[in-house]
Amino acid sequence: MSVRVRIAPSPTGYVHVGNIRAALFNWLYARHTGGTFILRIDDTDVERSDVEYEDDIKAGLRWLGLDWDEGVDVGGPHGSYRQSDRFDHYREVAHDLVARGLAYHDPRSPEELEELRKVAQSEKRHPNYYIRRPDTPATTGPIRFSVPQDAPVEFDDMVRGDMRFEAGAVDDFVILRSDGVPTYHLASVTDDVDYRISHVARGEDLLPSTPKHILLTKAIGGSVPTYAHLPLLFGPDGKKLSKRHGDTSLRAYREGGYLPQAMMNFLATLGWSIGADRTVFTVAEAIESFDLVDVSKNPAVFDLDKLAWINGEYIRAQDPEDFEAGARTEIERSMGRSLAADDWERFRSISGLVQERTKFMVDIPDQVRFLFEEVAADDDSWAKVMDKEGVAEVLSAASSRLSGLDTWDTESIEGALRGMLEDLEIGARKGLQPLRVAVTGSVVSPPLFESMAALGSESVLARLDAAGRRLAGS
Ligand code: GLU
Repeated sequence: MSVRVRIAPSPTGYVHVGNIRAALFNWLYARHTGGTFILRIDDTDVERSDVEYEDDIKAGLRWLGLDWDEGVDVGGPHGSYRQSDRFDHYREVAHDLVARGLAYHDPRSPEELEELRKVAQSEKRHPNYYIRRPDTPATTGPIRFSVPQDAPVEFDDMVRGDMRFEAGAVDDFVILRSDGVPTYHLASVTDDVDYRISHVARGEDLLPSTPKHILLTKAIGGSVPTYAHLPLLFGPDGKKLSKRHGDTSLRAYREGGYLPQAMMNFLATLGWSIGADRTVFTVAEAIESFDLVDVSKNPAVFDLDKLAWINGEYIRAQDPEDFEAGARTEIERSMGRSLAADDWERFRSISGLVQERTKFMVDIPDQVRFLFEEVAADDDSWAKVMDKEGVAEVLSAASSRLSGLDTWDTESIEGALRGMLEDLEIGARKGLQPLRVAVTGSVVSPPLFESMAALGSESVLARLDAAGRRLAGS
């Protein structure tokens, strides 16, 4: 039997990282087995569904490279993969179940239902005895599925092992609302049957729905898929992942300077491991090793520090040209202009050092802005470093040392400034940090000597001079 898996996000908000992790595991399983990965849009909630959110789902999948073989936009043999296009079909399925005595119209109010159940129980009958009486069939109202109450529902979950829901644990549930709108249960099961889904891998929060889905699948005459319920995501504090732990929408990471390969790698570690002590791996390696049976049932920890570390690893591993191209995009976006040729050369002369130190691409513009324009230190950095004894002396000693240089490169700058430290009998911290603030406008910057070499002697001397004047005026 060939593997056919799907993800079925509801476009009612920006797509959650948990849904994307489910998408990734389904995609990996499809690619590992040579199966088919399907994207279905669960938009039965027409009020809350929005095309903006559907676009966000698709953009997120494309950003990560999770291509789908069948589904919205790409089509496939089963017509539409958007549930709102298939309401008539779900209604037919519901009415067919009624005709076969497997579901029933239920016009009664919740209070009346409760009353009927009490009567049945007082007569030692099944609680739904009167509700389902075939001699009083209703023809309006919501349609409920008659849950067989005589046997437990059992299945073997690929992640959680043997699962058993006792007979009587599941109540009759609505499959078609009185306004003719199908519920999630009906639409989802009908689609899974129609699209011949072989494996349903989804979040553990849907586990309570699974016995309903199995019974409904059998009633419709479909073959029951194999289920794999993925562990939920938790924050490092052991509480369920929420906005308190950081962003929970994929969009925030897509727009936040993360590399898609790093995000993909990180998501793959949430409940699955490629091997002991291995955190960083390629997509090809993940496809090669991934299997749903290896997914852990323990809660998966969404740890932003780990993600940041992985992201830095991927940045360091990039080809220098790719890194530079990505950095250029970030810099130009942040500065709102394109870089002139000499700006670009200045950046390229230290891009290797920047690459080694970058965790997030979006941080690059602030680190290197000093190469392209004057950047004045903010008052805090200024007060912390510059309003100190001896700083004026450092600035003027550095100026005179540097202005005497014949060649302007990292080595000669380093030689000159180390000589200055010796003259003044001060350490690197005291002697170099003021120069960093004067030249780059910040206490954190790429390495100082290289930064000065990249910036050029004229600008460096002008900035040392300007800092000296700001100090004299303060
Ligand atoms: N629309 C459901 C969700 O987003 C799909 C669940 C399922 O995979 O069955 O949670």
